[in-house]
Amino acid sequence: MKDRRSHRATQPRSRTTAPGAGGAGALPAFFYRLAPRDQKAYLRSDAIDAFNLVAGATAPALAEALSAALEGGSAAATARAAQDLVTELCRLLGVRSLPIEVKGVRPRNARGELHGIFYPDAPRIALWTRTAMRREVVKPRTFLRTLMHELVHYFDYALLRLGNSYHTRGFFKRESFLLRAILPSGSEADQA
Ligand SMILES: [Zn+2]
Repeated sequence: MKDRRSHRATQPRSRTTAPGAGGAGALPAFFYRLAPRDQKAYLRSDAIDAFNLVAGATAPALAEALSAALEGGSAAATARAAQDLVTELCRLLGVRSLPIEVKGVRPRNARGELHGIFYPDAPRIALWTRTAMRREVVKPRTFLRTLMHELVHYFDYALLRLGNSYHTRGFFKRESFLLRAILPSGSEADQA
């Protein structure tokens, strides 16, 4: 259920149930239907594995505060903590921060549960804190990964100036890079 559709620039980027890296090797079929400009964006996205960022001590501390706020169950406190973390990461990368909205139970559709969305027009991110079926609070690691995922979409536009944002292997490497940067040293980023 990996989302490999091409996105138009006006559509929000969402993360549904299936996270994780892309498969090895071949380009997806839709790549060959993209306009040349979008193929260029896709290939550039695929080639960039990391950001020029050293998170220092502040970002991991803010990530820890976000995990605590999430587990505390307050959407307002979670939103404030998520905003603080995002603002710090944007500051480190020299891009303007963007609003973060935090909502309750995830919406569901045929493709799975919605974890988060990035809206590229008037950029903002929305995240959900509870699972659709059992209405349990999302695991902090999963929540942080979703936030980093949506942030990578934002950085594709605001920082890398790709003009479009695709789920390439490079995209998922950048997502993991950001997650590792905000986790306390020694913890494993890929254990969601
Ligand atoms: Zn996405």
